[in-house]
Amino acid sequence: MADLQWRLMFGAIATKQTRGTPESSSGERPPPAKYGGRHTVALIPGDGIGPELLNHVRELFRFSCVPVDFEVVHVNSSSTSEDDINNAIMAIRRNGVALKGNIETNHTMPPNHKSRNNLLRTSLDLYANVMHCQSLPGVQTRHKNIDIIIIRENTEGEYSSLEHESVSGVVESLKIITRNNSLRIADYAFRLAREKGRRRVTAVHKANIMKLGDGLFLQCCKEVASGYPDIEFDSMIVDNTTMQLVSKPQQFDVMLMPNLYGNVVSNVCAGLVGGPGLVPGANYGRDYAVFETATRNTGKSIANRNIANPTAMLLASCLMLDHLKIHDYANMIRGAILTTMNETRLHTADIGGQGTTSEVVQSIMRIIQSGGPLTTEI
Ligand code: ATP
Repeated sequence: MADLQWRLMFGAIATKQTRGTPESSSGERPPPAKYGGRHTVALIPGDGIGPELLNHVRELFRFSCVPVDFEVVHVNSSSTSEDDINNAIMAIRRNGVALKGNIETNHTMPPNHKSRNNLLRTSLDLYANVMHCQSLPGVQTRHKNIDIIIIRENTEGEYSSLEHESVSGVVESLKIITRNNSLRIADYAFRLAREKGRRRVTAVHKANIMKLGDGLFLQCCKEVASGYPDIEFDSMIVDNTTMQLVSKPQQFDVMLMPNLYGNVVSNVCAGLVGGPGLVPGANYGRDYAVFETATRNTGKSIANRNIANPTAMLLASCLMLDHLKIHDYANMIRGAILTTMNETRLHTADIGGQGTTSEVVQSIMRIIQSGGPLTTEI
């Protein structure tokens, strides 16, 4: 029953999209299909479990005859040269869309070595990170009925990579909050909330301590909120937010926050619904969109062991298909993933099972081959 409700909810979202509502609230159009209705998408395997999960996506797309071709771009995370990441960025500019694994950022690299993931997001101005965190059918968790959309500012805040140690033993690390980018992300959040029929947006901040920086962010959220009288607005300090999330997560609807709080809150929320292997994420800008797992894990210690949960990456590929407006394929694959989630014996170790990555993917293919999940008894 819970599964049916979930499915209906997702079906409703998909129906809305097929009527022309943009799933990314930035108002941009996805790149048009070319060469006989086919799309080309940049594929960045990244490190750890990224390559194997993306191979499963490719296998599943081939099996399902999805009209998408991939331009594969490898980024060597241990190289000090920025050539690889620049090539990846160029491929995304060319294709408009990318699916990626996380690129490892070793914190022992010299300070001038910038996170490749962060460089990619800022270079392409992918200002909105969106994660939809929902309780999933078949996954046992402490809290039920969670349905939160997290909107995270993705280009500034604590991720400015501006640090210096002009005086030995004293490091200054700059957090940048700008009025323009705060208004832009707040507007994105309210538009998305309206599109999805959501009731409330909660801004998360620490303006009691960072009075200027977070104060500006909060002020911008309030200004934008005043233009959306149909949507309730409130705010919450970040430390209380994390406590409220683990105590009573159902109270949250849409959450809006600067970059680092977004990272922390996304990880808490992923944990609440079953872990990093389950939740997909999307990064949208005016011109480009990049899809990945919501919590951007590398999962190095479980790489190449056929034990990683493929769900988050597969669902990310469905978000990408929705962005390309090939909703039928997105719905078919998503439906098969959700049906497979109901099979406890197929669960991977992260959600308490003994299933392997490839067993999950094979089950998804079987469901697609048998005519799709909507005809399958649950
Ligand atoms: P490592 O990369 O060595 O696993 P880490 O601390 O960098 O260590 P993350 O990549 O941040 O780990 O991932 C956090 C945790 O989530 C790890 O225990 C990882 O194994 C687990 N994890 C991440 N993605 C998945 C997945 N798809 N399936 C199962 N477990 C996952």
